[in-house]
Amino acid sequence: MEELQSALRDRGLAVSYVPEKGRCLVTTNDFYPGEVIISQEPYVCVPNNSATESRCDGCFASGNLKKCSACQVVWYCGSTCQKSEWKLHRLECDALSKLDKDRQKSVTPSIRLMVKLYLRRKLQSEKTISATATDNYNLVEELVSHMKDIDEKQLVLYAQMANLVSLILQWPDINIKEIAENFSKLACNAHTICDSELRPLGTGLYPVVSIINHSCLPNAVLVFEGRLAVVRALQHMPKGAEVLISYIETAGSTMTRQKSLRQQYFFTCACPRCIKMGQQDDIRESAILEGYRCKDNICNGFLLRDSNDKGFVCQECGLIRSKEEVKKIAAEIRETSDKASKSLSSGNLKECISMHKMIEKLQQKLFHPFSISLMQTREKLLKMLMELNDWRAALSYCKLTIPVYQRVYQEFHPLLGLQYYTSGKLEWLGCLGTRRMLSNH
Ligand SMILES: [Zn+2]
Ligand SMILES: [Zn+2]
Ligand SMILES: [Zn+2]
Ligand SMILES: [Zn+2]
Repeated sequence: MEELQSALRDRGLAVSYVPEKGRCLVTTNDFYPGEVIISQEPYVCVPNNSATESRCDGCFASGNLKKCSACQVVWYCGSTCQKSEWKLHRLECDALSKLDKDRQKSVTPSIRLMVKLYLRRKLQSEKTISATATDNYNLVEELVSHMKDIDEKQLVLYAQMANLVSLILQWPDINIKEIAENFSKLACNAHTICDSELRPLGTGLYPVVSIINHSCLPNAVLVFEGRLAVVRALQHMPKGAEVLISYIETAGSTMTRQKSLRQQYFFTCACPRCIKMGQQDDIRESAILEGYRCKDNICNGFLLRDSNDKGFVCQECGLIRSKEEVKKIAAEIRETSDKASKSLSSGNLKECISMHKMIEKLQQKLFHPFSISLMQTREKLLKMLMELNDWRAALSYCKLTIPVYQRVYQEFHPLLGLQYYTSGKLEWLGCLGTRRMLSNH
């Protein structure tokens, strides 16, 4: 701990302890918007490989990969990445090679992450891999596991996964119970590694970054540069401020956010947004983000359930929408979504787009203009239209998402920046298209 404190002191940080929260990271210097507060290489990480998608184990690149010829499980983009991973993979490769083909198929990214965790611990304790103040197994040991909060079904699953890890490692004195506990630890502490466009690539464990607590109104944000985790300030942070990032998607009502924090991280958030739960402006915000729109098309009022539960009343003009009408549109949306997922799984992108256009029309009739569901549908349309190189149509949906982004994300949030960037890129691509058409005439 002393070593960690002194390593952090040089970066203007310290670990502090708050009784109801546990450990937390605080600043001992000022940090300004965009500035890097801390960056960390993963203790262990693994790409999200599946039957349909593979990435390099070293740099997470896709395309032009070669399988490790010995184990036939792990992919590399070239010899540089293979060499940089070799100390650890040498042991993993031995273990994986001994498995029969069927067992090898059950080696999911989560199983590999755990195998790598044990191998790295072993290599560091043997001093084959050096340890530092911010890169050692003691930091992993100090992470919370929430074993007491996990339900029976999850415990059984972790026990089965632990057995598989033990079978792969074949260490005589391995503690299965400890492996199961470590799975629980990874579930609450590991981070999803995303690319610069925030698409998920893999999972990594960053024990110092894991000290940072959650807030639904964070003052910092976690992004990735390759597999390096980088925490940047979203606002000016004076000396003595607690560094806070969001563990979940912050675009959502207080109830939605609290639910996902309880389910995955087992705590009740008491951030400045959450303590307002049930207060007038929180009720209003939730009704705007997740509620229905006014029957009158030009009214932007938000709706609340009426006292005898027959419908929803606009808080601006008093118009009532009946429950039946709401149910009817909701059912149409569900039906169209089912059709859309069928056309997606059969690979018919054009059909899927026209289904989503219908969903978007229906959601516009049902939800408030700032609705998260409506924004998500437009986001899907944007991505699918980009796949078809239909820049103009993509741009029109991108523009529609921006007011919602501005409402739910802070000024310096990377998701908002990314949306501005996408919009600019689409304007440019659209212009290029027009110029090309003109020059062809
Ligand atoms: Zn690579
Ligand atoms: Zn191998
Ligand atoms: Zn909160
Ligand atoms: Zn109204």
